[in-house]
Amino acid sequence: MAERTPPLLQVRDLQVHFPVPLAGAWPWTPWAKVKAVDGVSFDLHAGQTLGVVGESGCGKSTLARALLNLHPATAGSIIWNGKQMVGASKADWMAVRKDIQMVFQDPLASLNPRMTAGQIIGEPLRIHRPDITAADRSQKVRTLMDRVGLTAQQVNRYPHEFSGGQCQRIGIARALILEPQLVVCDEPVSALDVSIQAQIVNLLAELQKDLGLALLFIAHDLAVVRHISQRVMVMYLGRTMEVASRQALYSAARHPYSQALLAAIPILDPELERHRSRQLLAGELPSPLNPPSGCVFHTRCPKAQAQCSTAVPPLQSDAQGNQVACHFAQASA
Ligand code: SF4
Repeated sequence: MAERTPPLLQVRDLQVHFPVPLAGAWPWTPWAKVKAVDGVSFDLHAGQTLGVVGESGCGKSTLARALLNLHPATAGSIIWNGKQMVGASKADWMAVRKDIQMVFQDPLASLNPRMTAGQIIGEPLRIHRPDITAADRSQKVRTLMDRVGLTAQQVNRYPHEFSGGQCQRIGIARALILEPQLVVCDEPVSALDVSIQAQIVNLLAELQKDLGLALLFIAHDLAVVRHISQRVMVMYLGRTMEVASRQALYSAARHPYSQALLAAIPILDPELERHRSRQLLAGELPSPLNPPSGCVFHTRCPKAQAQCSTAVPPLQSDAQGNQVACHFAQASA
């Protein structure tokens, strides 16, 4: 139903490039260009979660930061509620900032150690809603602490007095205090113990359902995003390899990179795991300073053919709206 309404966020051919000096080069040598995000497109509707997956260095976090203008886009478009944000003024971004919030990867490092949990959670409200009194702000903070699984008695404690999972709950409460429409979660569970990861993913899923939030949920493996995402985008070296519904991706991934990521997910039954046939990824991610020609995945792709090293595969959609960038992807069932 959500997809019949216009998307909250439309990203089209987004590019984020960084100039970097080359090691050992002369000072007058032109800097190289890292294409951290290189032509990414997707739609995100209210109440929907898009999982974004790929190895470290594939551009996921840069994409997340570009959506908040923390890394300005080099080209392409970010349309938020119908408004073009690439090239928008600081004032326009400031107005949008309260509707798009972020949860960061390292929960402890993302919190100011000199502020109490209550001050951290209430800070966005103090900045963006000066009309709200201190007493109302304090009440909202306590209500939200309770909602994310903390207690009002912890309001005056400092970040070092909390566990990693509790710090992430503080980060989530801080992201929610302004009642945003979209929360960008940049690997919110990768620094946490496995048992705590499940708690945080469940909490985000509950909050999303209750509050009708849109989530962009970034992780480096497909197991983590499965539970929470309605659609999943797989990225490699700054490009989109596949975007599909959860059902389509987990039952019949079409891109060889998605298939390799799925094959890397362990199966809990040791007997099944032992007899499982799977194609694991070999080699390292190539340097984004010098990405492979043609299909950027061809140097590690078990299905690569001659054409793959010269021709860039376009991202093609099927009738269900699932997209894949591979010359030899089979049609989805
Ligand atoms: Fe592999 Fe070629 Fe498809 Fe790229 S285009 S994923 S190299 S088969």
